Amino acid sequence: MGYNVAIDGPAGAGKSTIAKLVAEKKGYIYVDTGAMYRGLAIHFLDRGIKAEETEKVIEACKDADVRICYEGGMQQVYLNGMNITGRLRDEAVGRMTSKCSVIPQVREKLLDLQRELARTNDVIMDGRDIGTCVLPCADVKIYLTASVETRARRRYDELKAKGEVCDFDEIAKDIKERDERDMNRATAPLKQAADAVLVDSSDMTIEEVVNTIAGLCR
Ligand code: C5P
Repeated sequence: MGYNVAIDGPAGAGKSTIAKLVAEKKGYIYVDTGAMYRGLAIHFLDRGIKAEETEKVIEACKDADVRICYEGGMQQVYLNGMNITGRLRDEAVGRMTSKCSVIPQVREKLLDLQRELARTNDVIMDGRDIGTCVLPCADVKIYLTASVETRARRRYDELKAKGEVCDFDEIAKDIKERDERDMNRATAPLKQAADAVLVDSSDMTIEEVVNTIAGLCR
């Protein structure tokens, strides 16, 4: 069994930024489970399937092969042999992902892959249900959150920096809707595990959050 650190929290809390830095500092592999869900969502989108078409989504899971690997230390996601890493962060993909990830068969599809990575490597794995469902025996569990305002501001700045046209209120609304879906779905909802340490990054620098979390790890 590898040494396992689980980081859960809502969209935009900074999980991936922080997890990557802690991984570097500690020599763990960073596993971004959201990227796996996003990979599956691309599979559905490319087949013209809508999130509401549950039966079609379930059927399409059967011929989706999502794999992750590491090239130059960066996680790459392959869907049926194609590297789709560059498409993962599209807004449309994010929306589709959040809607499809409520479907139990979609979650089941990725569970074994996530557990196998944690069994064979020292990992820091981020997502929504890592401490509660995927790795209930993780060595360290963190629930990383921040206010909606802070998370929307970060996303807004990120998109602006990329030169994309965006609207702050739209982003905040989207974040609230995503929280609502992630926290209230029947299967593996986002919630703080009883034994997770709560870290609210609203008024913390990246360095402070990294040091706090790294300080809890071996
Ligand atoms: O973390 P990221 O924003 O990339 O995740 C995209 C979506 O994937 C989330 O809104 C959530 O609905 C879903 N997800 C999930 N369980 C995980 C990781 C992501 O349901 N472990």
